[in-house]
Amino acid sequence: MAEVVEAPSKGLEIYAPQRRRIPLRVTGKRAEALGKLGIASVQDLLQHYPRYHVDRTQLSTIRELGRLAGQGHDGDVTVHAKVVKMGRPFTMRTKTKTGKSRTMLKATIGDETGRLEIVWFNQEWPARALSEGNVAFFYGRIGVYGGKLQMTAPRFELVRTGREPFNVGRVIPVYPASADITTDGLRKLIWETLEGAGEIMDPLPSDLRLRLGYMTRGDAVRSIHFPDDKDDVLKARRRIVFDEIFSLQLGLVFRKKRLERTVEGISHPTPAPDSLPESFISALPFELTGAQRKACAEVASDMAKSFPMHRLVEGEVGSGKTVVALYACLIAIAGGSQAALMAPTEVLAEQHFLTVKELLDRAFGEHEGANLFAGTSNRPVVRLLTGSTPAAQRSEIVAGVASGDIDLVIGTHALIQDSVDFARLGVAVVDEQHRFGVHQRKSLRDKGSMGEPDILVMTATPIPRTLAVTIYGDLDVSVLDELPAGRKPITTTIAFGEEQRGDAYEVIRGQVAAGHQAFIVYALRDESNKTELRNAKAEAVRLAADIFQDLRVGLVHGDMKSQDKEAAMSAFRDGVTQILVATTVVEVGVDVPNATVMLIEDAERFGLAQLHQLRGRIGRGGHASHCILATDLDPEGEEEGTATAFERLEAVAGTTDGFELATVDLRQRGEGQLFGARQSGMPQLKLTRVLEHQDVIKQARDLAVQMLDEDPELTAYEHIALRREMRDRFEDVALDVIQSG
Ligand code: ADP
Ligand code: MG
Repeated sequence: MAEVVEAPSKGLEIYAPQRRRIPLRVTGKRAEALGKLGIASVQDLLQHYPRYHVDRTQLSTIRELGRLAGQGHDGDVTVHAKVVKMGRPFTMRTKTKTGKSRTMLKATIGDETGRLEIVWFNQEWPARALSEGNVAFFYGRIGVYGGKLQMTAPRFELVRTGREPFNVGRVIPVYPASADITTDGLRKLIWETLEGAGEIMDPLPSDLRLRLGYMTRGDAVRSIHFPDDKDDVLKARRRIVFDEIFSLQLGLVFRKKRLERTVEGISHPTPAPDSLPESFISALPFELTGAQRKACAEVASDMAKSFPMHRLVEGEVGSGKTVVALYACLIAIAGGSQAALMAPTEVLAEQHFLTVKELLDRAFGEHEGANLFAGTSNRPVVRLLTGSTPAAQRSEIVAGVASGDIDLVIGTHALIQDSVDFARLGVAVVDEQHRFGVHQRKSLRDKGSMGEPDILVMTATPIPRTLAVTIYGDLDVSVLDELPAGRKPITTTIAFGEEQRGDAYEVIRGQVAAGHQAFIVYALRDESNKTELRNAKAEAVRLAADIFQDLRVGLVHGDMKSQDKEAAMSAFRDGVTQILVATTVVEVGVDVPNATVMLIEDAERFGLAQLHQLRGRIGRGGHASHCILATDLDPEGEEEGTATAFERLEAVAGTTDGFELATVDLRQRGEGQLFGARQSGMPQLKLTRVLEHQDVIKQARDLAVQMLDEDPELTAYEHIALRREMRDRFEDVALDVIQSG
């Protein structure tokens, strides 16, 4: 008997590309207001997910609240009540510890069972939004203060009787709204749109869906907006998250597998014990860490294969990624091809160049072309090419790259300019890959003339492996989660205000007196009329004149000419300057083991990953190091973002574990930032919270791999809808990469 084949699901395609979306039938001001929220189509609207839900099936009366408070209830409650009295904001006599004044706003609400006082601190808008006689839902925390029942800072929603038929007696969605369109308005529109939407297409074959225990997509979309109960919301969310991740994973894995099948790479010889790469490793003055050894083995095995390597090396700051990168380059060179190492900034490219030179000097002696190791390997010829390489030198290097005389070229994106052609590019290493887009990696790949070069990307923004897979799902991942032995700890402290800044200067002085060096880092390069923040240029002058008169103070910032920058860096490297005043140009890669203190000014201005990176510039030698995060921000202050800023600083002070910090960062900033440059052409994640949904991510990933193993092009009848959705969700840019490799 023939197998029963289910017809593909029909209906509204939630993830249709823009051109196939159904325009919303709204006009004028409303259309404009929706447009500002990024909503133009039915699909956009249905993906405008609620921020939270309010359970109106569980309304309390004020009398019940009294009882709940008496029992020590400390969760949120909802009451439906009328504003009996509305106060005005007034300034309180007690100030915060730091002397800022606070305002208080009071109101009294009542229902048939009693009255209740509500208060807001430092919020004045409720006074404008509520007036006496208004009826509203108040949603917040209750407590007893001075023997009186009180609700603190409730959210509320006005009830204009008769206009919100779906606002009571159920779980109510509350939407991200704007001044022009309220959450009520959105709720109504979404309700009506869902009513008229008809069937919603579900691409997941139903036997698979049932096996996974998910509701249909149609049910999920309806329930995420208008659930029957809270549990319904959770189930709906899991289904939608699964969908968001699943087609993302399908696309990434599809792209990877297709590359492996169709693209011809270069099969580099596996390094023998006396080969160039292995001689290099054994000549290093240190032992590789276990993690480095493993990563090197993975690289060697990838490079031996006939399809191109696409590997990500994720490593803690200072974990020794450069050695792994160089090992990959030497494998290619040993096999007769060339290598390119691309860095995001000139400072970093120059730094890499110096590191590589030094490592090669140690391994091969200082003479280029010298024939060491009993005649088996020549020292590779290495050159630096950046945007500021002088023209004459540039053409010489370009010629050397084209003829194949240069084995390894290190540089910035100047490397991927059209005029640079490689004789036989075997491997391209991209450092700090999150700063490059898919496009740039692609142009680097296109430089290969004998087959696709292998690609190794390195990032010092460590994220847990499951998450790395979500984002870099088309790459294999090596993790350097181990620091070289003998690293001394870095202590990190937060310094508040002038006095503690003075203490920090003393720490610097002490370290310099002991023969070490210090970084002082600023968020700004120049004076800015917008803020009162310190800036590197002015501070370099002030510090040299007033604070460290007897010490040698240098300055480096991004706006300097390349030679000046390099001069400043080498003066510091060579110990000529003892204190280097800098902007974030020193964020990545800079390696001066003698530097043992870093003072970061206006530290609250920096992102968490950035602070961690900056701090990674110290603690590189065998000496205990200090990092001081200075801030003039008032910890008790009411300034926007103060709490998260301090959470950031405390997290950095609390641990040097980059993976742990990455998790905090993710929690603070959400998923968007994770993708960075990768975002272009990548499907959007609207509901997924990668930390919270790691299990769903893993499930989707495993399933995607399995499905594509069985049906590599997704041409099976039951996979057609999935294939279509996968293509829809990856925009053209990324598809281009899928199609062309
Ligand atoms: P990152 O991973 O931050 O790029 P680098 O590759 O710049 O780190 O390495 C940091 C420093 O550690 C360099 O001075 C490098 O020579 C040194 N290093 C690398 N691997 C080891 C090791 N296994 N043992 C000791 N030092 C090492
Ligand atoms: Mg590095």
